[in-house]
Amino acid sequence: MSRIAYVNGSYMPHREGAVHIEDRGYQFADSVYEVVTVLHGSLIDEEPHLDRLERSLSELDMAWPLHRNAMKVVLRQVVRRNHLKYGIVYFQVTRGVAPRNFEFPANTPSSLVVTAKHIPKLAKPIAPGSKGLSVITLPDIRWKRRDIKTTGLLAGCLAKQKAVEAGVQDAWLVDEAGYVTEGTSNNAWIVTRDGELITRDISNDILNGITRRRILKIAQAQGLKVVERAFTPDEVKQAREAFISSASSFVKPVTEIDGKAIGNAQMGELSEVLLKGMYDFMETPQSE
Ligand code: PLP
Repeated sequence: MSRIAYVNGSYMPHREGAVHIEDRGYQFADSVYEVVTVLHGSLIDEEPHLDRLERSLSELDMAWPLHRNAMKVVLRQVVRRNHLKYGIVYFQVTRGVAPRNFEFPANTPSSLVVTAKHIPKLAKPIAPGSKGLSVITLPDIRWKRRDIKTTGLLAGCLAKQKAVEAGVQDAWLVDEAGYVTEGTSNNAWIVTRDGELITRDISNDILNGITRRRILKIAQAQGLKVVERAFTPDEVKQAREAFISSASSFVKPVTEIDGKAIGNAQMGELSEVLLKGMYDFMETPQSE
């Protein structure tokens, strides 16, 4: 089945999708994006993702490429035309095409690309008892506005590459004060020995994940003890459980950091409860 992409007003075969050489997304990473999970053909948490896109656009003084409602129509069309049941929809807005000058171009429409990817394994939650990810810690060398979801992801790519070269799956990034910020493309969580669920508090230092927010709601509804604060790699080593969250990984256990096993080196009890909570939420019909 051939993949279909949306590029600035047209639906076309994915392999034919292209942008101009002077697109500011290409030249300056002057662009923002979102990734929304599709489960049973429904867009999960679509409104919060669109709200975050709106915030990213507004922080960069960038215009919506389409009216928000028209954008929703395009997202649904991309899901439908790709027969997407399980996977992700990726959408990226750039400041558009203009001669290469640092200052913003006047009267230039922003551009929009939407693609879809099938990920059949999203249909099934990770089995309890599964081993989980190994991570290494690395210095966080990203810019100071990580709260904006831009495509300026080179520091994340460098960290991920170092992780892969070290034989592990991801890196947890550490700020100058010695605290974990987040993973290369996910939020970081631990469960202390006292059963406290901890994830870093919101600031310009991390991206406020939509999955992070959903997990906080699920945890609160379950009466779990949640604290939003920074934690150190040493605390991760002492933790009972650790996991990452993101739109495409939901809740994924982290069972080793810098070569040291976390907890019993398996998916923890609370991670399992939260993953089940995520699936319960996603299985309930999403409002249009
Ligand atoms: N942090 C970073 C740096 C990310 O790139 C992402 C997702 O791409 C996340 C956190 C998780 O965000 P979400 O749950 O909205 O996917």
